[in-house]
Amino acid sequence: MTFFELRGVSFSYDGRRLAIDGIDLQIEAGRITGIIGPNGSGKSTLLQLLSGWLDVERGQVALGGQNLCRLSRAELTRHVAFVPQREEGCFSFSVRESVLFGRYAANEGYRSFETEEDGRIADDALKLVEMESFASRAADRLSAGERQRMLIARALAQQTPALLLDEPTATLDLHHQRNLMRLLTTLAKVELKCIVIVLHDLNLAANYCDQLVLLDDGHIAAQGSARDVLKKEILEEVYRVPLVVTDQAVMIEP
Ligand code: ADP
Ligand code: MG
Repeated sequence: MTFFELRGVSFSYDGRRLAIDGIDLQIEAGRITGIIGPNGSGKSTLLQLLSGWLDVERGQVALGGQNLCRLSRAELTRHVAFVPQREEGCFSFSVRESVLFGRYAANEGYRSFETEEDGRIADDALKLVEMESFASRAADRLSAGERQRMLIARALAQQTPALLLDEPTATLDLHHQRNLMRLLTTLAKVELKCIVIVLHDLNLAANYCDQLVLLDDGHIAAQGSARDVLKKEILEEVYRVPLVVTDQAVMIEP
């Protein structure tokens, strides 16, 4: 089932250079879609257009057949949870309180206080990222990876049909990378969520994503299965680096 549909989508930050340049793309529910590509190729911009954080300039993003720009903020936060690459702002809250913000987003337009059920959902989300013992810790005193896992828990607590994650594995150790990718697989396969994840690690992309979209300078350079996209000729051209590509792995040629 198509969850997001993009038609001729373009976006520019400065009104001149297009960060996203005429993209057509369908993103399915029940699958993990991996967005890959070099620095500055438009991955974060694309994710922000899907989440409604940025408005398309030309073209259209549809969510479940509805034009995304016509949805209210409350409708958007009930449909899409977004884990940004960086999060500005200070966290003068505990880890658990920060995760509970995901419940405020989920309840937006209904109520502004939390119930026992909201507390349970936040605690479950903390467990899923192995952060339950951090619940009462100050959110601004965490390691980068712990902070990343807290932000993932906050998005999980939002319980949306779509989950967008921008380089969530960048600061995670191997254990937590695997834990996250397996969790996302379950959310896609069992709960039929639409998962969109930006990754630099092409081996994680190959092993866990059902579909890959390779961006290059605001365009789609290739899309399809890992087998179709992770080809030596394609990757060497887009990333401008010599590579060793086998069925099992993509490595930089030393
Ligand atoms: P990626 O996530 O693939 O590294 P981005 O989507 O963040 O790339 O950026 C795409 C392009 O838009 C880059 O050239 C980047 O410099 C530019 N860009 C990103 N954010 C801003 C911004 N807030 N203002 C102006 N230009 C930006
Ligand atoms: Mg980015």
